[in-house]
Amino acid sequence: MHNTELTELASLDRAHLIHPVVNYRSHEQRGATILVSGHGVYLNDAQGNELLDAFSGLWCVNVGYGQESVVRAATEQMRQLPYATSYFHFASEPAIRLAARLVELAPASLRHVYFTLGGSDAVDAAIRFITYYFNSTGRPQKKHFISLERGYHGSSSQGSGLTAIAAFHQNFDLPLPHQHKIPSPYPYRNEAGQDPQAIIGASVAALRAKVAALGADNVAAFFCEPVQGSGGVIVPPKGWLKAMREACRELDILFVVDEVITGFGRTGPLFACEAEDVQPDLMTIAKGLTAGYAPMGAVLMSDAVYCAIADGAPGMPVGHGHTYSAHPVSAAVALEVLRLYEEGGLLANGVAQTPHFEAGLREMLSHPLVGEARNRGLLGALELVADKGAKTRFDPALKLSERIAAAAYRNRVIFRAFGDNILGFAPALCYTASEFELLFARLKKTLDEVLDEPDVRRSV
Ligand code: PMP
Repeated sequence: MHNTELTELASLDRAHLIHPVVNYRSHEQRGATILVSGHGVYLNDAQGNELLDAFSGLWCVNVGYGQESVVRAATEQMRQLPYATSYFHFASEPAIRLAARLVELAPASLRHVYFTLGGSDAVDAAIRFITYYFNSTGRPQKKHFISLERGYHGSSSQGSGLTAIAAFHQNFDLPLPHQHKIPSPYPYRNEAGQDPQAIIGASVAALRAKVAALGADNVAAFFCEPVQGSGGVIVPPKGWLKAMREACRELDILFVVDEVITGFGRTGPLFACEAEDVQPDLMTIAKGLTAGYAPMGAVLMSDAVYCAIADGAPGMPVGHGHTYSAHPVSAAVALEVLRLYEEGGLLANGVAQTPHFEAGLREMLSHPLVGEARNRGLLGALELVADKGAKTRFDPALKLSERIAAAAYRNRVIFRAFGDNILGFAPALCYTASEFELLFARLKKTLDEVLDEPDVRRSV
């Protein structure tokens, strides 16, 4: 892009574009990183740099950039019928086929699909449907929601109260009084120790204790991610999801699994629930559903939840809707993306490539900054610590995450540097062994450079 054009765009951005989840004043200082194109697992910025994307955009472009068949599916649908409402009994063919396909692919308990525009409104829809469900089945006092510390469930008015990230609460009057948290099953820093059974036991006990404290008759649902994403890629032990599901059944509360990140091959199988044969009452999805090529999310629900809502207010419509629910272009995109995961072999490639990803992460453990490497499938993290034995965190004043993200960009690799000095990775399912080699070479160079900075060197 030409320099004058770039300067103009940068100043228009500062003046008018509000960015999600940044400090607005620091963004005005820093300015935007403008991306112009993508191909495979690479992005090109406006300065002409080619960057290796190890985060699939925002954990969504699971099929990589420039998939021509997806572009074709969108174009053809736009030409034929760019929009059809799903209000008032209207529908389009791609929306119906997608709902049916998702029911075929999802855990067997889930039979009905409501489409949204993304993950936040899928969580919002889940909360509204659950409220409706308990009101219409004669248990209106069941209104309390429980989620996990370090959990992320989007930024809708109520969903951000289930999210457990301080910036989503402060000045927003959240969480709401009926929203509660239990500890994250964070293996690296778990008070119950490192033993998987102890970690699972502690989570189940915490859920039981919270439900007992609130009164079982007052609790509606427990929300969780199979692997916590935005909270720092926290990978619970295998068996944790199943144990939480069973606990919810015993406690007579709904079990809602938020697969917005973990869905669509991110952790290996199409859905993380599959690995443990978990049958949720509701499931939220987005991101990999359309691989970022068009906005779309969904909430899937069981027959029991659907039927209670369907019979909840005879003769009255269920007052939940979006103009763009079941958007035909997004649905056509999703159908083609699903084809790429399955017949296109991307799901299988993701599984086949995971050992390269895992080995690269493990190798980083020998770096002086890295305290832990963890992953499930192609969702992984490195946790940086000042003292590996004591697992001491770096002084936040060092701003280590920001410095690592900046150094990574100079080395032409993009991943996510979270607070608490956790580096998150979510490579596309189409990564090859040589792309993983390049990723870890650039990552090592980045960590070496940051370690060479005198104040960082003094801190380890
Ligand atoms: N749930 C989870 C688990 C997520 O990771 C996200 C997004 N990162 C959301 C919900 C919200 O999705 P969206 O940003 O599409 O609204």
